[in-house]
Amino acid sequence: MLYAHYDVQPAGEDSSWTSPPFEPTERAGRLYGRGAADDKSGIIMHAGALLALGADCPVGVKVLIEGQEENGQGGIEEFVKANAELLKADVIVVSDVGNYSLGVPTLTTSLRGMAALDVEVETLEGAVHSGMFGGPAPDALIALTRMIATLHDANGTVAVKGLDVVAYEGADYDETAFRKDTGVLPGVDLVGAGSIADRLYGRPSINVIGTDAPVVDSAANALIPKARARVSVRLAPGQDPAEAQSVLAKHLEAAAPWHVKVKVTPGGVGQGFLAKTDGPAYVAATGAMAAAFQKDVVHYGEGGSIPLVAAFLEAQPTAEMILWGGEEPQCKIHAPNESVDLAEVERCVLAEALFIAGMAGKK
Ligand SMILES: [Zn+2]
Repeated sequence: MLYAHYDVQPAGEDSSWTSPPFEPTERAGRLYGRGAADDKSGIIMHAGALLALGADCPVGVKVLIEGQEENGQGGIEEFVKANAELLKADVIVVSDVGNYSLGVPTLTTSLRGMAALDVEVETLEGAVHSGMFGGPAPDALIALTRMIATLHDANGTVAVKGLDVVAYEGADYDETAFRKDTGVLPGVDLVGAGSIADRLYGRPSINVIGTDAPVVDSAANALIPKARARVSVRLAPGQDPAEAQSVLAKHLEAAAPWHVKVKVTPGGVGQGFLAKTDGPAYVAATGAMAAAFQKDVVHYGEGGSIPLVAAFLEAQPTAEMILWGGEEPQCKIHAPNESVDLAEVERCVLAEALFIAGMAGKK
């Protein structure tokens, strides 16, 4: 079964694009336009492979193309769970990822899971004058900040007990390239321990992605009675997100100072993924990619999660999963001036055609 999605992220301001986002425009071998890479390139990969094979396609193929991926509401996951029989397959190919760098054939072997929660701290019945009451009266934002500060050690390594770390065996991520891709400011340290790839693909990370606290420009001289933060954890592949959510909640509750009132509300979760790399499809995919690109295949992790991959595995635990595609860092997916390299897409089409042809008689 071949999967891709046709919906796209909003394009943002037209003025931030060199050519209009919804007029596909070719420049220097790249096709520019919103969705050119994410994920129309996945659709072209499947369509191109099937056209190339034509009547000679030696195995049964199902195609699943959806249009609700980017809004993250999970319609397709529900569909996959409810239609396991209709979607039954020996191999599921998810072409919504891509290559380590342009021209380097890559199979994605792991995805981190995720778990989020909201933590709210309350200390006072309402805001009171900070001059008249500040000192003995506890400020909710200070209490919440102290709790958040316990999530990492001084180096920025996650300090919550019960969050897994797994050994990552794929390719590394060069520090200079990482700093450039991320836009870390000169002189600012990277945080955590281990190689960059270990930190991204084998270890958890915790970030605060939102806070409810008074806005600075309209701040009053008052103690803050209530403060809230959304804490988001990226999990090592394989860890159960619900378990992670619960260890994080316990950690925050235990870290609360001064007997302040703490309320934790669970948020979204997503299961990670660790590929089975010794099955016939994985071996065939590796060979097909090497032949199409004329280069050794890189096995690589991804820091994000794809909830659909978890849904596929839950509905069809014996299916082999192949994650590949025509995206690479220059594609700037989700950003202005998204593009795809046309020769890369061609190589991907060839790889997929060779892969499907090579699966004949493998069952
Ligand atoms: Zn996508």
